[in-house]
Amino acid sequence: MMTKNDVKIKPGKLFINGRWVDSVSGKTFDTLNPATEDVITSVAEGDSTDIDLAVTAAREAFENGPWEKTDARDRSRILLKIAGLIERNKDELALLDTLDNGKPINETTKADIPLVIDCFLYYAGWADKIHGETIPVRGEFFNYTLREPVGVVGQIIPWNFPLLMAAWKIAPALACGNTIVLKPAEQTPLTALRLGEICHEAGLPDGVLNIVPGYGPTAGAALAGHMDVDKIAFTGSSATGRIIMQAASKNLKRISLELGGKSPNIVFADSDIDSAVDGAMTGIFFNQGEVCCAGSRLFIEKSIHGEFVDKLSNKAASMRVGNPEDTGTQMGAQVSKEQFDKILGYIDTGKQEGAKLVTGGERCGEKGYFIRPTIFDAVDNNMKIAKEEIFGPVVSAITFDDVDEVVRQGNLSVYGLAAAIWTMDIKKAHRLARELKAGTVWINAYNAFDAASPFGGFKQSGFGRELGVHALESYTQIKSVWINLGS
Ligand code: NAP
Ligand code: MG
Repeated sequence: MMTKNDVKIKPGKLFINGRWVDSVSGKTFDTLNPATEDVITSVAEGDSTDIDLAVTAAREAFENGPWEKTDARDRSRILLKIAGLIERNKDELALLDTLDNGKPINETTKADIPLVIDCFLYYAGWADKIHGETIPVRGEFFNYTLREPVGVVGQIIPWNFPLLMAAWKIAPALACGNTIVLKPAEQTPLTALRLGEICHEAGLPDGVLNIVPGYGPTAGAALAGHMDVDKIAFTGSSATGRIIMQAASKNLKRISLELGGKSPNIVFADSDIDSAVDGAMTGIFFNQGEVCCAGSRLFIEKSIHGEFVDKLSNKAASMRVGNPEDTGTQMGAQVSKEQFDKILGYIDTGKQEGAKLVTGGERCGEKGYFIRPTIFDAVDNNMKIAKEEIFGPVVSAITFDDVDEVVRQGNLSVYGLAAAIWTMDIKKAHRLARELKAGTVWINAYNAFDAASPFGGFKQSGFGRELGVHALESYTQIKSVWINLGS
């Protein structure tokens, strides 16, 4: 296994038009390791001037460069090559995400990186299968459609799955022939930059992918408001999603938003209780709870409530929280001091609201942003901790004793990203899958993902779908062509 000493981390630059450059202002910012609070390296800080340069490069590459005109099968070949290079550098990429984000190496190695590789493989398979149709129309006409790329795409991503979020955005956009300006989150820019190197090495033409690290209100806002960007794809908080939507309205650019959640994880008495306990653990503690679809509202049927909470709290209390680089670690550090303080603030709120703290509820260790896995019981769905996205390892357990009531409560949220149901009753499972207002429903599972299956939100969790054939919709536009066959 690779350790910190095996990788030489260079100061990060901006990747514009196939070259590594400093920001025009010369400014840099530090990226930290949240497990040690040490600086990893400095990174060039892009702002609106650098975004302008990157958009100009992407526009030139789109209008006059070879990418869109490249035979689709050759685009596919480059995507395959990117997947292959990620595979070859997987240990380094896993370690970089672990250092920059604080998530356990076991997870970056076994979840993030394999999903990243799969995403590029999957869209490599699509590149030469994106096509229009012929349509029977009235009259002496031949009508057909062309499915064309949208153009220059701006992509703004969060810090919770740094490389995976870059892959979800970049792979489908490239498969469809677009050019890209990507802004990674300020907390975790390192793997996106390394991916830029990999794409360059794989033969992606200059200007097709540009990467500009920087802050949201400067670089991000400039990208979202840019008059020469055709589409913006965003993953992050609903609050920022609203700002992006406003900025995008300036030139009516297309938007897709993948935002927050407060997903109900519903456990019935007729489920396999031990599997459901494991599912509840994964649902809330995977990735330190910094997951948009985390199962943060845990609905437990009354008759099994005591047994379930006991089992869950025993497991939570014995989780190995600590050094993310250690292969035995099950939960690492929260991404930043800001996030750490926010989560501890919600834990205080939960206590004040009268929820019962069963386990956790405090920081872990003296250094680094570690928080113990935290369970609140006797939560009411109206409490703040059950309504707002905490984005940390804090679950709110709510008791129920009626199927219709739990569906109503589960849907009582401004969000609708995901939901899960644990039951052996197949009728109930399928009925609830229809009734729950969420973009993803898991039955007897939690946090299952695949590049082929769509992901996205209902309600204020956003719109547009990532992954699967559905992402191709959001990176292409349709042209209708009419040919007069009459006299
Ligand atoms: P955020 O503000 O939504 O950040 C996501 C991305 O948007 C980052 O790249 C950020 O840049 C950028 N951004 C921020 N303000 C912007 C603006 N005005 N215009 C354009 N881009 C902008 O999220 P956060 O502040 O990191 O985290 C706050 C909360 O958001 C979390 O506690 C969590 O509840 C939620 N969140 C949800 C997800 C998700 O996957 N749904 C992911 C992350 C966070 P910088 O980071 O560089 O400033
Ligand atoms: Mg960092």
